[in-house]
Amino acid sequence: MKIDILTIFPDFFRGPLDYGIVRKAREAGLAEIEVHDLRSFAHDRHRTVDDRPFGGGEGMVLKPEPIFECIEELHLQNRTERVAGAERQSVVLLSAQGSRFDQGVATKLSTLDRMVLICGRYEGVDERVGQHLADRELSIGDYVLSGGELGAAVIVDAVTRLIPGALGNEASTRQESFTAKTEVSAGNGPDSTCASGGLLDYPHYTRPADFRGLQVPEVLVSGNHEEIRRWRRRTALEKTMRNRPDLLDRSGLSDEDRRLLAEVASKQI
Ligand code: SAH
Repeated sequence: MKIDILTIFPDFFRGPLDYGIVRKAREAGLAEIEVHDLRSFAHDRHRTVDDRPFGGGEGMVLKPEPIFECIEELHLQNRTERVAGAERQSVVLLSAQGSRFDQGVATKLSTLDRMVLICGRYEGVDERVGQHLADRELSIGDYVLSGGELGAAVIVDAVTRLIPGALGNEASTRQESFTAKTEVSAGNGPDSTCASGGLLDYPHYTRPADFRGLQVPEVLVSGNHEEIRRWRRRTALEKTMRNRPDLLDRSGLSDEDRRLLAEVASKQI
């Protein structure tokens, strides 16, 4: 996948994209990431990329011209075809007003050949960019950041690790938090009964089994795979009920899940 990031702070990306899985994916040629400095598309002496808002009010707004010019240089397919899904390309505007980025969106984006991320700053970006240039607006959560760069780094990270081959063990993406049932059953995945199915991930433990008197749960060292599977599913349900009850409504719960949830609920009283 080729990823282009448009920003007025290109140096911001020194670091976030240079470690771990994203770095490995770049080195393996699975992801090529190019950061474009919007200032080099400004033609005045001061390389102006922002201006005051029409209608008055606080702050500055990123001008449309440098962003349009930069995108035009990327020679993408035309927007109508991109939006219709005929092309595996997408131009994303990072925006607090965008639809919410989540694991489902990350999974869809990971199938693209080309992803372009436009980072806003100040009060935001001239609306014509969102309306006529970008294919979609994405928000990484319900809070206001001072720029789209952190959001772009989040999206690059979440998407890159889903590119086939990016993770050493592909099974591990399928068992993680939020991974929906449909994503789980796609491919020759692991035992889907212990995959997350839209829930939060189960708790993980490693050596030592006794750390300062804190023991790992007995069942995990029992070697009984069926017991381990049930324990993992129950603790995933428990954690989801405690921290993210909203996810329980969305995930398709099996009869066993309902029994386990009832078990958990009865213990909590
Ligand atoms: N005035 C805007 C906020 C602008 S913040 C509003 O009230 O919605 C400046 C830039 O930061 C935005 O243009 C966007 O690119 C980025 N940004 C802020 N919050 C974000 C979020 N939750 N997700 C993604 N990008 C965000």
